[in-house]
Amino acid sequence: MAFEGLADRLQNTLQKIRGKGKVTEADVKEMMREVRLALLEADVNFRVVKDFIKRVTERSVGQEVLKSLTPGQQVVKVVHDELTTLLGGEQSKIAVNNRPPTVIMMVGLQGAGKTTTTGKLANHLRKKHNRNPLLVAADIYRPAAIKQLETVGGQLNLPVFSLGDQVSPVEIAKQAIAKAKEEHHDYVIIDTAGRLHIDEELMDELQKVKEISNPNEIFLVVDAMTGQDAVNVAESFNEQLGLTGVVLTKLDGDTRGGAALSIKAVTDLPIKFVGMGEKMDALEPFHPDRMSSRILG
Ligand code: GDP
Repeated sequence: MAFEGLADRLQNTLQKIRGKGKVTEADVKEMMREVRLALLEADVNFRVVKDFIKRVTERSVGQEVLKSLTPGQQVVKVVHDELTTLLGGEQSKIAVNNRPPTVIMMVGLQGAGKTTTTGKLANHLRKKHNRNPLLVAADIYRPAAIKQLETVGGQLNLPVFSLGDQVSPVEIAKQAIAKAKEEHHDYVIIDTAGRLHIDEELMDELQKVKEISNPNEIFLVVDAMTGQDAVNVAESFNEQLGLTGVVLTKLDGDTRGGAALSIKAVTDLPIKFVGMGEKMDALEPFHPDRMSSRILG
């Protein structure tokens, strides 16, 4: 399960305070020491941990009294609320274009799960929202990328727009959107090129694709298992491209959770979806409150 290690530690810590009829400042301090260690061990950004501890401590010591809860339960509730805030607060939905199609640009480093997520997202839009998306193969550099997206489209029985690898991604995006209008696709999802590292050439090109396609969303696909590296990648892409959200992949294998817990606080970008496996239906809209409940038990 995702966040296994963190969930175990936090649940153990909170268990000790939950039943208490009286919570002293020393109790809160002791608990916060353990919460701090648990978060740091989960690879959460240290500044994020510091702020989190400060907020929970302030609210727990000067506790607002809720009649239905014991003091111990109230402290647990404060941790839950603050964890939800840390994960992004409200669920962040996909922005929709008033005049279809809604254009979503998928960006990210190679291997993060961009092509897979492009397919998963299209599948989600069709299955859950009854939409008719067009997939666009604009990664012309990685040898097998176009083929991979075509395979994914074939599996899902969804159309893939491609012009091979000799046409520029900008031209591909332009023609794809024209075709989507003609054929009444309500979503266009563009799978762009990824590299092993961020470089200027990649960013220049993504910038041009952005200009021509005027996307409603630019989603960065990042591998949750890379922890703080994922947060750094998100910061760079956001600075250079102006992202609208993040899709965290491979959360199914992420026992720590550091990226998920740091990304919103560091970049102010919402986590829109999480990838929970390799299969095409393993994509979930991200609900901060539900995730918080899952972690705290
Ligand atoms: P791209 O280079 O960013 O387009 O990455 P791919 O879409 O080719 O994905 C790289 C690998 O990650 C593939 O083996 C995918 O099956 C795998 N993958 C993608 N998303 C997930 C996920 O959410 N969970 C798991 N376990 N594997 C994933």
